[in-house]
Parts: sequence; C-alpha cells; structure tokens
Amino acid sequence: MIDEIRKNEIYSVCIEDMSDEGLGIGHINGMTVFVKDTAVGDEAEVRIVKVKKNLCFGRLEKLTVPSKFRCEPVCPVARQCGGCTLQHITYEKEVEIKKDRVLGCLKRIGGIENPEQYLEEVHGMDDISENSFMRYRNKMQFPVGLDKDGKTVTGFYAGRTHSIIPVDDCIIGHTVNKYITDGVCKWADDNNIQIYDEQSGKGLLRHILTRIGFKTGQLMVTLVINGSKLPLKDELIDTLNRSVAEYSKDIDSDIKLTSVAVNINKKNTNKIMGDKTVYIYGEQYIEDYIGDVKFRISADSFYQVNPAQTKMLYDKALEYAALTGKEKVWDMYCGIGTISLFLAKKAEKVFGVEIVPQAIEDAEKNAALNDIKNTRFFVGKAEDVVTELYEKSKMPGEEDYRADVVVVDPPRKGCDEKLLETIVKMAPEKLVYVSCNPATLARDLKILLEHDFSLKKISIHDQFPRGMNIETVILMSNRNIKPDGYIKLEVNTEELDAAKSGISDTSSEDF
Ligand code: SAH
Repeated sequence: MIDEIRKNEIYSVCIEDMSDEGLGIGHINGMTVFVKDTAVGDEAEVRIVKVKKNLCFGRLEKLTVPSKFRCEPVCPVARQCGGCTLQHITYEKEVEIKKDRVLGCLKRIGGIENPEQYLEEVHGMDDISENSFMRYRNKMQFPVGLDKDGKTVTGFYAGRTHSIIPVDDCIIGHTVNKYITDGVCKWADDNNIQIYDEQSGKGLLRHILTRIGFKTGQLMVTLVINGSKLPLKDELIDTLNRSVAEYSKDIDSDIKLTSVAVNINKKNTNKIMGDKTVYIYGEQYIEDYIGDVKFRISADSFYQVNPAQTKMLYDKALEYAALTGKEKVWDMYCGIGTISLFLAKKAEKVFGVEIVPQAIEDAEKNAALNDIKNTRFFVGKAEDVVTELYEKSKMPGEEDYRADVVVVDPPRKGCDEKLLETIVKMAPEKLVYVSCNPATLARDLKILLEHDFSLKKISIHDQFPRGMNIETVILMSNRNIKPDGYIKLEVNTEELDAAKSGISDTSSEDF
C-alpha cells in the first residue's frame, strides 16, 4: 500500500536511476518519482509538483549528498534551457547511462533476454579533455524572440515552455554561430523586421538555422519566416558576410558563407521548417566530407549532426553488412545517400529510398560527385516504394528488387510496420538497423525476431553528447536463407497469369 504523496510537500529521495528523458528516478513510500536536474547517486530534498496514479514528479530543492557522478555544467544556462539534460553528469557516466538505456529498451520492449551478450562496443567521443568535445554539432536552430526591452534576441525555449531564455552562445554548437545570430538580430533591429510571436501568430522572423561542413568550412544560414518574402535581402547578406569576416579575424578560421536560404513556414506549429525553401545567396547547398566521400547537403536534407562520430557509425553499418562486391543492397531512409555511397563502393548495386525529394536530388548528385555508378534512388515513403517494388519483382521481365542486405536508418518513430512486413517477405540475408531511438528500435526488433530474424550484434554510438539521445547499430541475420541464396519469392499466380497474357516472351523469367 502506497502512503499518500502530497503535492508541494518536500521529501528526501535517493536517485537510483535515470529515465529515458534524462530525469533522475527515485522512490517515495514505494511510489516512483521523476526529478529533473538530479544525477544517479544523488540524495536530495525534492518538492512534489505533480502526482499521478502510479508516479509523481518532483523539483530539486536541495542536494543533501551530491552524487560522485556529478560535474559542473559548462553552460551557464544548462539547467533552464532543457536542451542538454546531462551536462551536470560526467561524460563517462553519461555513456554508461545511455548504454543501460539501449539495453533496458531491448530487454523491456524487445523482449530480448540478456542483450549484453550481443553488445560489441560503446563508442563515446574519443577526446573529452578540457571539454573540447562539447562543440560537436554542425547544425543549430535558434528561435528568435524579443527581450524585455523589445530588442531582438535568440535563445532557447525553456524546457517544456515557449518562453525564450536569451543566450548568445550555445556551447554544443560552432563558435561562429554567435557572430551569425548577433548579426541577424542587429539586421532585424536596424531594419524594423517584425519578430514572430507564437501566441498571436503575427510577425515575420521565426528561426535562424546554421549548418557547417566541418571539413570544408562551408556555412549555410537559413532564416525561417512567417511570410512569403524576406525584405532587405541585400542588407542581410552584407551583414552575414561582415559577421563571417569578423569571426575569421577574431578566430583565424576558414569559415565561408556559402549559401543563404529562406524557409517559409506560415503554420502555427512546433515544427521549425515549412515545406518551401528559396535560396537568396550563393549555392543551393554546402559540401562536406565523411571519410573520403564528398557530400552536398541542401537546407531540407538530413545530415548527421556530429561529424567526429559519423564516420565510425557508417563504418560500423558497412562492417555489419560484410559486403564482398556481389551483393544487392537496400538503403532505406537513405537521406542524401550517405550510407548508400559508403555501401556502393563494396556492393554490386545499391537501391536507396527517401521521402524528401530534395534529399534524393542530393543523393543522385552525390553519387555522380563521387563517380559512383551502381546506385539507384527512389523518392517516396519507404513502406510504399519498397513494397511496390517487391511486388513488381514477381512480374516477368521486371528487375528483382530483393536484396542480400537491407540497411534501415529510420527517424525517431522507427520503421513503418508495413515496411517490416515487406522486409520479412524479401528475406535479406542480413539486416542492419541504424537507430536514433532505442524504444522504437526495440519495438521493431521484436517484430523481426518473431519473423525469421536473429539478433547477432549490437554497437552503440554516442552522436549526441550531453543529451539523452543515442544511436545504435544492430546486425540481424535471417534464419530462413537457403545456402544458394534468396528464399523463393511467393509469386502471386493471378498477377503472373494476367501479366503473361499481356507479355509474350518473358515466360521463362525465373525467380
Ligand atoms: N541514412 C541517412 C538519413 C537518416 S535520417 C543518413 O544517415 O544521413 C532518416 C531519414 O528518413 C530522413 O532523411 C527522413 O527524411 C527520412 N524519412 C522519414 N520518413 C520516411 C519514410 N516514411 N520513408 C522514407 N524516408 C523517410
């Protein structure tokens, strides 16, 4: 029987674990309590702020015994900002917490017993001396607002709210960002640009986005606006060029303003970017390298945010694919073709599928840029495109779109169930699952494990230091594979007959 827990009362709590969101977990009279800003190992006085049926939430009032895993956050607004949930915890412990999170999800949600036995490695950032690893992100998005004096500022929404805390530097981003945001805010004030107000839906300027090729120094700045047109473009470009010149003078860097884009988002939503992007200066992309593969990246395309870790992540996907040069491979959720091109160098053929048309345009250009000729990319939802192509493979005269190896790298919501069904039917010999969300990974693995696939290896890669997100690469193999290759396609005889009556010379097509 749980004694009643009262809101606003203060209780002593030992923090025993961390939640998937980075909250400390403890117990009061048998009831689970979640407490922000605590670390596993803390003993604390906690004020209860919300009580639900089986759990409650508390606010840290006083640390009575600090955990040995605590460290001083580098960022002065770490606690308010809500972005870096783990800055008060040592990096070594952070990596352990993330490993436990992945294994916990695989156990709890995936029903995998003892997942530790498959774990090969956990890759945290290599160089963590002097907090040098902190400025790892190549992409940042800054909400724009007004401070109490009506001046334009950028900052961060306080965790779970929509009020802006002014911050003139975010320490997980590049040092050039401060120069860019200062410049844009001054341009807005000097030219009376109206700042977007979420409450009323009025005003123009919403967000400033920056993306930098860490290897090339190429910088893209995107302004997100609530309107069809950005006024005073020339003044903006002059300002941005001045900001970059000033930065280069102060820091002695090779950052170049390569592209300026305007993204139109007139919807009153939490989604930062709208559907339309226009370029107002320079190129329509920036370029960067991962290893020796060159990529062009446009404003709407996904690109991994932590260049120091990305190559290792893709190398792991490639290692698990274990290609010999003879395989056909699918790269599902392929973005700008990053993993596809890594795979293509070692495969006979790579098919890629991605929902963002601009990203597929980039992927095609990227293949050409690297003189890679054995890739083919499709635009659309993976679950629709792959399913249709798989069905098409049963038709005489059609290309066989099955694959020896399938790589999936879905967004946080994981794979669509229809896609998992098609993959099971396709029966690739190997499946490599690259995941940025252990919970949906575990949910999808459960389905795959019930259908012919066995778990072989797990590798964990920290792409997102100081926050709770974590990347996992999984290797699965297919129990159903015959020694001589694909399992037989279940041919739909009705479709086949219909097709045969229309096509005369392909009846010997043999799958
Ligand atoms: N593998 C790429 C991209 C991974 S991010 C890389 O490492 O760079 C996930 C990608 O899936 C994004 O590019 C996103 O646009 C795309 N996506 C989201 N939903 C999709 C769907 N239903 N079908 C295909 N692609 C989708």
